[in-house]
Amino acid sequence: MCFLALALVAASSSVATEPIVLSVDATQAGRNFIHSHLVVPAHSGPMTLVYPKWIPGEHSPSGPINDVIGLHLHAAGHEISWQRDDVDMFAIHFAVPQGAKSVELDFDLASKGGSIASPNFSRIKWNRLVWYPQGVASDNVTFQANLTPPRGWRCATALREAGVDGNSIEFEPVSLTRLVDSPALIGKYSKTIVLRDNLEKIEVFADNDKTLEAKPTTIAHFKNLVAEAHALFGAHHYNSYRFLVTLSGHGGDEGLEHHETSEDGTAEDAFSDENDGRYLGYLLSHEYTHSWNGKYRRPAGLATPNFQEPMKGELLWVYEGMTEFIGTTLNPRSELWSFENYKDAIAEISAVMEYTQGRTWRPLVDTARSVQLVYGGDPGWARARRGADYYYEMVLVWLEADVKIMQLTNGKKSIDDFCKLFHGGQTTGPKLVPYTFSDVVATLNKVAPYDWAGFLHNRVYAVQPHAPTQGIEESGWKVVYNDKLNDTAKQYDGPKGTFLYSTIGIQVADDSTVQDVLPDSPAASAGLSPGMKLVAVNGMKYTADRLKQAIADSPKPGARIDLLTDIGDESLKTLTISYHSGARYPHLIRDPSKPDLLSKIAAPHRR
Ligand SMILES: [Zn+2]
Repeated sequence: MCFLALALVAASSSVATEPIVLSVDATQAGRNFIHSHLVVPAHSGPMTLVYPKWIPGEHSPSGPINDVIGLHLHAAGHEISWQRDDVDMFAIHFAVPQGAKSVELDFDLASKGGSIASPNFSRIKWNRLVWYPQGVASDNVTFQANLTPPRGWRCATALREAGVDGNSIEFEPVSLTRLVDSPALIGKYSKTIVLRDNLEKIEVFADNDKTLEAKPTTIAHFKNLVAEAHALFGAHHYNSYRFLVTLSGHGGDEGLEHHETSEDGTAEDAFSDENDGRYLGYLLSHEYTHSWNGKYRRPAGLATPNFQEPMKGELLWVYEGMTEFIGTTLNPRSELWSFENYKDAIAEISAVMEYTQGRTWRPLVDTARSVQLVYGGDPGWARARRGADYYYEMVLVWLEADVKIMQLTNGKKSIDDFCKLFHGGQTTGPKLVPYTFSDVVATLNKVAPYDWAGFLHNRVYAVQPHAPTQGIEESGWKVVYNDKLNDTAKQYDGPKGTFLYSTIGIQVADDSTVQDVLPDSPAASAGLSPGMKLVAVNGMKYTADRLKQAIADSPKPGARIDLLTDIGDESLKTLTISYHSGARYPHLIRDPSKPDLLSKIAAPHRR
């Protein structure tokens, strides 16, 4: 039995040493239809191929297997039949006929679009376009890929070109790991913005030429971002780096990290509108930080040998949480954000976390362990359930760790020293160094000896009924609520609707559907539930501004908040919200009794 198992592993390893040839016909990519042709080396006998299931950066079994259509296999000139595995939907079994040296696969990837394409550009995510032999490590499978975009479209990728044949680009052979880590962006309208010595650049694609024009100050701020990241980490782990940016109202919304690229997609006017521009800065800072924190250093549970092995998300509070803290902090350092924006962001995060009522029943780490469930979760009762809170809440926890290091070392050291030790070192090409909880604690102790294990267990692994605001307070600031709008909050609630958690306790979508209700809130007491639609506010047709005004006016004598609501069975009902505390927007105000460490954290560090 053991001998047989060893023989099977040896056979599949020998298959994997010859390259798999991948030809991608993306000439119909603008309509979300891409054809893939694979030639996979094979021996006669039974064979199993698998489609990538666990996708790096998505931390979930999110490979779009259901988008694979029209799958046909051929060997030795004949079509061969295949059968899907009973249990693993991402595996197919078939028999390779006598004399065949390879199996050819043809299939179409018919995706829903939106997130990856507009009529004028498309993201080529190789993991969606390949199958590979079951049981092999992705480092040990070589792919020789070529790509044919629509005529006149340009291609940007970290893959190196080996040659161009007509409209088709041939790439140098790479391992499956590198291929999946090196997506391409193809499109009709594009521009290259060089940031530093041709080493880091922005490749921006859009639906027209006008959208591609960035102001000189915007470009200067992105140059600052690269300089700030290098001042922070002291070294990098890529041969070159490309931000693969899409600005479009029709598709391309994305945020996914890789060693040498990031896939960044947002609104069409991100180069012209202040609020959308702030989000673009935030997005690029976050995804760029991942080249160090997430790609070079990765939790052992997420550093899997291939794309079928389940990932363990427990340490996402470092992978995503520290990235969220560092990325957010690089914004004011790069001048992509003002210090006001930074303070408002911290205040907003603290408010959203405080009003996350699910924090009373599950610890933060549980949101990371259950990452497969939290991404793309239903917004209904989301704050009572908790979502991917290991992003935002860890901004507050890592801020507290940063302040603690400053206090322990009399201001001589900070979390930057941790980053230099943990993520910096020698500059290299793409490289993966896994870590465990103990490695994080040991490096923190090298920077400043303290009970870091106890600190992290308390903040991350124990149920905490309140948001961890100690870092804000120790940095010389306090969270207050007043009636002044928090402009940066729009970045957090803009695309998802209107957040009213700190007043009546709901989130409303732009189409007036109540998305979320806090169970312990005035809105819940009045009978509001997720899925209901708001029709009118105090007798006037519902708009988000009218509801906000009614909340702002609520302390006035005789004020009411009457919401005419479509409760879901075609009947309308007026629900009266008992709330009289006015508008409450979170802000930070200075506590003069303590030194202002937050300003120090946010100040430029580049020389
Ligand atoms: Zn991330």
